Amino acid sequence: MIEITINKQPITCTEGQTVLEAARSHNISIPHLCFHPALKPSGACRVCGVEITSPTGRQTVMLSCVLKVKPGLVVLTDSPLVRSHRQKAFVRLFRMAPQAHRIRDLAHRYRVDLPPEPDGCIRCRLCIRVCQEIVKVGALKMEKTAAGGQVAKGDGQCIGCGTCANLCPTSVIQVTDHDGVRTVAIQGRMVGQLPLERCEACGRMYATADFLNRVSHISPGHPDTKEHHNLCPACVKLMSTRAMTEKAHLKK
Ligand code: SF4
Repeated sequence: MIEITINKQPITCTEGQTVLEAARSHNISIPHLCFHPALKPSGACRVCGVEITSPTGRQTVMLSCVLKVKPGLVVLTDSPLVRSHRQKAFVRLFRMAPQAHRIRDLAHRYRVDLPPEPDGCIRCRLCIRVCQEIVKVGALKMEKTAAGGQVAKGDGQCIGCGTCANLCPTSVIQVTDHDGVRTVAIQGRMVGQLPLERCEACGRMYATADFLNRVSHISPGHPDTKEHHNLCPACVKLMSTRAMTEKAHLKK
């Protein structure tokens, strides 16, 4: 038999046991996720770290699922060093599997603060910049939150152009057309809701009036703006193809 100390409590264990096994057999809780009594330990999840004093007298964290007991070993399972290691280990796992309730529950049990669940936005601000610098509307802004900021409705009025959604590298901005209304939303938070206009040729609802007004205002002299402004992209394409074919016939 071997005697070790866990949290200042003398523990008797058998040779070849790991610290985690010894702790479990004495009802001392150490968090673990990748440990299974029927399998060899791997130390993959890293949440079972405990503090020991190395032979040189230095405090260090070792994984209790792989650390074998030895006479006189002094172990702490909840020191500041352990809590700091545990926090990092849990955050690493959480980033890989934010949907896993078991990780959240275990973290909660050991008073580990996990970051907010990833929301799909990488805070690149492309949407905010394009809306401000190119569309010149400023309908989006970065809002401060406990999680370190999120894209929110800005001071400008959204014109429903959809440019932000087209540029978003992670597709978290949704533009949905339903019952003649276009809705622009970021992760369920509405940014704009505007009625759609019909294409004068095919009758399909295709763009918002505010967007069309903006286009004619920005490029009033452009021939396409004048001619095609009230047509959907499909009809514009059809018209251009027809015009080119007629031109080719006339040349013959
Ligand atoms: S859809 Fe609205 S928020 Fe997005 S770029 Fe256009 S005006 Fe800005």
